[in-house]
Amino acid sequence: MFIEPGIDQSRLPHAKPIGWIEVVCGSMFSGKTEELIRRLNRALIANQRVEIFKPAIDTRYHVLDVVSHNANSIRSTPVQFASDIMLLAGNSDVVGIDEAQFFDTELIAVSRKLANAGKRVIIAGLDMDFRGEPFGPIPGLMGIAEYVTKVRAICMKCGNLASYSFRLSDAKQKVMLGEQEAYEARCRKCFYEDFDPKRNA
Ligand SMILES: [Zn+2]
Repeated sequence: MFIEPGIDQSRLPHAKPIGWIEVVCGSMFSGKTEELIRRLNRALIANQRVEIFKPAIDTRYHVLDVVSHNANSIRSTPVQFASDIMLLAGNSDVVGIDEAQFFDTELIAVSRKLANAGKRVIIAGLDMDFRGEPFGPIPGLMGIAEYVTKVRAICMKCGNLASYSFRLSDAKQKVMLGEQEAYEARCRKCFYEDFDPKRNA
C-alpha cells in the first residue's frame, strides 16, 4: 500500500509545501482507479482541495465521475487536452488524473508544472496497450514521477499475477475502451502465447 510521504515541518520551519508526482499504472482490471480514488478520498477527508480530470474520450460511465469497475466513484471534469488541466487546476492542492494514457504527451509538461507549483499530482493509467507497448504519456510520466506504483490484476487464463491487457475482439483501434468482454488481464506467458502480431499490427 502506498503511504503518503510525511513532511516534517518541525525540522524545516520555513519550508514551503512542495509538490510531487505519483503514477499508479498497470493493466486493465488491476485496480488503478480504485487506488487513485483511495488516495484522493483521503486527501478530501483532510479538507485538501482536490480536482480530478479525465480525458473527454472516456465516456463509458457517467460523464462527471471517475468511475472504477466496482462503482466506487468520485466527481471529475472531462477535458479534451492536457493543457486544459493547467487552466482548471489553479486552486487545488491535489490534482488527480484518470485514464491518463489517452491524453497527449503534453500531459508530461503539464504534470511537471503542477508539481513545481506545489501541487500533489496523482496519475492513473494503463502502462501498456493491447500490443504490450508503452502507452501514450505514461512512460514519460513514470520517468519524472517521484513515486511509481505498478498494480497488477490476476491472469484470467491461469491465475498468476497479470500485467498485460489481452484484447479478445478483432477491432484494430487502440483507443477502444475497456469493456469486460473485449479484454482479459493476462500474465506475460498467457499474453504472448496467444498474441498474434499480424492481427495486432
Ligand atoms: Zn496466465
